[in-house]
Amino acid sequence: MKLRPYDHYKPVAGIPDEISHKKRKPKSLAVVDDGNCTGCQVCVPFCPVDCIEPTPAEEHTFSSPIPPVRVRYNECIGCAICARVCTKLTWDAIHMLPLSDFQSMFPDVEITDNFVPNTEDSSSKGDSPVIEI
Ligand code: SF4
Ligand code: SF4
Repeated sequence: MKLRPYDHYKPVAGIPDEISHKKRKPKSLAVVDDGNCTGCQVCVPFCPVDCIEPTPAEEHTFSSPIPPVRVRYNECIGCAICARVCTKLTWDAIHMLPLSDFQSMFPDVEITDNFVPNTEDSSSKGDSPVIEI
């Protein structure tokens, strides 16, 4: 019997060819568990709207030497790809929170119906709010 190697990438969507952006309010949002995230950044290139980024050093207050990643919530489309990537390829540090639960937990974060990236300032990733949990 010929054995075929297990395809570890099968449950995970591919890295997107093009970056898109949010066109409607999502049903759920990705929330990174700071205490579980290793900061490996494996999830970053898989996000189809490129809204996952390393937490800047000056905002990194946790005791681990490598900063965790964070999600710019108002840009997230709730696709859950990052959560699958993290669970299947690395750890289990991203949880998908239903929008109503997210808004109860983080009432100060505005989630708009769509998100138009600021293309004039290429150094800016937009002005979407980011919060730490
Ligand atoms: S893949 Fe998981 S552990 Fe690695 S940076 Fe992303 S959320 Fe953190
Ligand atoms: S669920 Fe994850 S991969 Fe999908 S848009 Fe949100 S942060 Fe990006």
